Amino acid sequence: MWNPAQWAGLIPNGLGHVKPNHYGEMLHAVWQNRAELPYAWRILNDGVCDGCALGTTGMRDFTMDGVHLCTVRLNLLPLNTMGPLNMRVTEDVGTLRKLRSDELRDLGRLPYPMVRRRGEAGFQRVSWDAALDTAAERIRETDPKRVAFYLTSRGITNEVYYVAQKVARFLGTNNVDNSSRVCHAPSTTGLKQALGVAASTCSYSDWIGSDLIVFIGSDVPNNQPVTTKYLYYAKQKGTKVAVINPFREPGLERYWVPSVFDTRLADAFFQIHTGGDIAFQMVGRLTPPPPTG
Ligand code: SF4
Repeated sequence: MWNPAQWAGLIPNGLGHVKPNHYGEMLHAVWQNRAELPYAWRILNDGVCDGCALGTTGMRDFTMDGVHLCTVRLNLLPLNTMGPLNMRVTEDVGTLRKLRSDELRDLGRLPYPMVRRRGEAGFQRVSWDAALDTAAERIRETDPKRVAFYLTSRGITNEVYYVAQKVARFLGTNNVDNSSRVCHAPSTTGLKQALGVAASTCSYSDWIGSDLIVFIGSDVPNNQPVTTKYLYYAKQKGTKVAVINPFREPGLERYWVPSVFDTRLADAFFQIHTGGDIAFQMVGRLTPPPPTG
């Protein structure tokens, strides 16, 4: 439903802004995945998204009826559709060391196990049996207390995490960690101290129909872009949005949701100094509520 009162302007597609430029990025994604377009389409339609914790089933979710898709997911698609890397580039790690991380990623996916032994210039291909035997031998000869599993936070699913921690415990260690934990440890601690619960206590569907949503130090348009669509629906129902942040995050002031329009999100922005949230809370407590009636 169009509501011009919520429009931030008449210029479409984020023109003149750094991002988002959805249609341009969609075309770019088609170009990047051109060698495997049917496969890419199947991933989007039948797969889950490994881009952020919001979560999808295909291109749908359980909060709204419309399409759930963002450019973060499109940008990650080539990681699934890209071909194998040319093994010759791994023969000398000196060459690899000169590449930036995005250049390394663009080399292609790892097609098989590789080993680089001490003193060797680069990696050699080995069979799966040899790779598993090497890992098993090292694990067997190590005290389980000194064995640790560290998992990436992207590109693998909850089922893989589940199996990994089971395997770790089967091998006698509970040293299991992943890069998401590093990312979420501060918010987990903050939530526990502020609310007494270390995880969220409501669902995204609760946003739609609430009176007020307050974002504290949060940047959802960049981290979970589809939440801006939930916010749009919430605002359609009269929700007010307040943001407390040291940086006046442009995506929280307005966002161009492709299926609607350039949308105002924050109704009030409180730009506090870094470390000034305590003072902000104190002012909030000391300020008497406005007179009613
Ligand atoms: S917001 Fe984007 S990255 Fe996150 S789950 Fe949805 S499509 Fe994936």
